[in-house]
Amino acid sequence: ARVGGARYLEGLNPEQREAVETLDGPLLVLAGAGTGKTRVLTARMAHILASGRAFPGQILAVTFTNKAAREMKERIATLVGAAAEGMPWLGTFHAISTKILRRHAELVGLKSSFTIIDTDDQIRLLKQVLQAENIDDKRWPARTLAYQIDNWKNRGLDPAHVPAGEAAAFADGKGAKLYHVYQDRLKVLNAADFGDLLLESLRLFRENPDVLKQYQDRFRYMLVDEYQDTNTVQYLWLKLLAQGRNNICCVGDDDQSIYGWRGADVDNILRFEKDFPGAKIIRLERNYRSTAHILDVAAGLIAHNQGRLGKTLFTDGEKGDKPTVSGVWDSEEEARTVGEEIEQLQHKGVRLDEIAILVRASFQMREFEERFITLGLPYRVIGGPRFYERAEIRDALAYLRITAQPDDDLAFERIINVPKRGLGDASIQLLHDHARRERISLTRAARSMIETEELKPKQRQSLRDFLADLDRWSAQIEQKPQGELAETILEESGYTDMWQKDRTAEAAGRLENLKELVRAMEEFPSLAAFLEHISLVMDTDSQDAGPRVSIMTLHAAKGLEFETVFLPGWEEGLFPHQRSLDDQGRAGLEEERRLAYVGLTRAKRRAKIYFATNRRIRGLWQTTIPSRFLDELPEAHVEVVDSASGRSYGNYAQSRFANMDTYRSSYTTPGWQRAQRRNAEEQSEAKGGAWRDSSARRGPLTIEGELVAKSSATSSFDK
Ligand code: ATP
Ligand code: MG
Repeated sequence: ARVGGARYLEGLNPEQREAVETLDGPLLVLAGAGTGKTRVLTARMAHILASGRAFPGQILAVTFTNKAAREMKERIATLVGAAAEGMPWLGTFHAISTKILRRHAELVGLKSSFTIIDTDDQIRLLKQVLQAENIDDKRWPARTLAYQIDNWKNRGLDPAHVPAGEAAAFADGKGAKLYHVYQDRLKVLNAADFGDLLLESLRLFRENPDVLKQYQDRFRYMLVDEYQDTNTVQYLWLKLLAQGRNNICCVGDDDQSIYGWRGADVDNILRFEKDFPGAKIIRLERNYRSTAHILDVAAGLIAHNQGRLGKTLFTDGEKGDKPTVSGVWDSEEEARTVGEEIEQLQHKGVRLDEIAILVRASFQMREFEERFITLGLPYRVIGGPRFYERAEIRDALAYLRITAQPDDDLAFERIINVPKRGLGDASIQLLHDHARRERISLTRAARSMIETEELKPKQRQSLRDFLADLDRWSAQIEQKPQGELAETILEESGYTDMWQKDRTAEAAGRLENLKELVRAMEEFPSLAAFLEHISLVMDTDSQDAGPRVSIMTLHAAKGLEFETVFLPGWEEGLFPHQRSLDDQGRAGLEEERRLAYVGLTRAKRRAKIYFATNRRIRGLWQTTIPSRFLDELPEAHVEVVDSASGRSYGNYAQSRFANMDTYRSSYTTPGWQRAQRRNAEEQSEAKGGAWRDSSARRGPLTIEGELVAKSSATSSFDK
């Protein structure tokens, strides 16, 4: 191979090149945003392949999203061509551990066809567990338990290892017991939740040294992107695997650690040298992404954090435009202004896929979506409420899941009486009792109960018909293309018919969505491949072609870059988010600040920050205070601009900034109410013309019961 002058080495600076070429032993690349960490990882893989050090199947590479994995595969393919064939072990932690688990499922009490359940199913299952254990789920909500269990799983703790003190916190000391029952139940259903994917594959390795050895030998090289956001279970998993060849390369940036709330532990970076003896550390300091003003603003902001390793970051590039800060009246004007600016950029020749809107909370998206629909501006929502989360799609997926895996109880429950088959709650309860008694799945329980007298004859017949349908569908999995099979199932089950007879306004849209589902399925080689894909994308990103403006949460934007980045909603309570401040105090605030840093550093040429003076939060109009982060931006590199609507918010904003210190000193958690009071006082004192004009124009503030995009529709990125 022509390694010396290889294409993948072209243009790398000396430190990057060193990081690419240091192949033996543990390596940590610790560097700021946009310094080429991800690029180094890609080049490193190309180098390993081109130099013949390993085959694609011997490289384990972990990315943070499925999208990042896809892009990396494409990059490597262009760098080394056919040598990159496949890269079967390049993916997210979840994708990789799922693949391993399926191969050895029986060793952890599952079958290789196990179902991956999502949060909705998880909650439903936990409700059943609570009920079976006679625990009042009003007092001890399933959601709280789900959160606790996730937390344990993120920390690599199975039921036997939950610390006594923590287990005591739920339902008078029953926490660990419930966790245990839940895990048992999952096994009976042949199912795993998201947290299990890693926890169970860790257990697999721990309990089966021969299996572990097999993978330790296989993975000659391990590479991990966004290392600062690995949680404990991921870390333990990596560490076990790396003990084989000891060739692990992690890249990360402590300033971009933004998943602490999901158990990520930035200390993993600090521990690297200790855990991987002889580790080499390479720092990259030159930023290739952003213009100088943007970088200075980001650096000025993050300097307010105390818990940092500290890094230098510079660019040789041009100064560029200063990031802007604009005040607007409310979220509607915010969306309107952003829409206008995007149209102007479009006229200047900026491509829409070079533009992103990064929000702190997903409820902020709707306003932009509506505005863009009005303007006819193509956009896509990444990681938001999505197609696959709609009710009719979930129903259809449940039909498909139970066809593929008849023991899938959650799917069974979801559709057994949809459309109505005369199998109401009472008969389901009987099925449940039977299933629990015999420790079998609901489908199996149904099979045995059609032979007994427990159910009424009519219901027995109904069940018998359903089981016959199910058997017939299952038998067709191999014969029919999956799209066709899906159509058959939806027809024969009466599901399509149910919506055709429905007179509500949404029914037509639902039928269209079902058609769209069938279309989407056709892109996959098999039903199993499709279902696997669904369970993995449910939690993360969606794919969509064509130049579109991207709307996503700041969390989802990690690792990405755009020419122009819009950053709306920089207001106290929203950003920094009140919940982070309440739950985690100073640590929470610092994580919010890192999130702001991530947002700013996504921008190559333009960063545009907004704050609205009024915002509806949880259905109530609130007068807001500009985010403290605005004060922390170095003045020399920021431009405060008037909003596009032509009113002079600039002065208003500046005078607000000047006053902010008074607020800040009194701003302690739970200071939101206090801040609100002070804010209201100031509002009555405010003499700014802009304020009066606007309120006159709009009339007095009203309190509207607008709903905020809620729970299941809220992306997992949204705290
Ligand atoms: P983040 O911390 O945000 O994930 P990163 O450190 O992973 O950033 P990359 O995304 O790899 O940074 O690189 C940022 C940009 O700089 C990319 O567009 C990349 O192609 C470019 N880049 C990186 N290294 C070089 C180089 N040596 N010459 C030219 N461009 C480079
Ligand atoms: Mg990166």
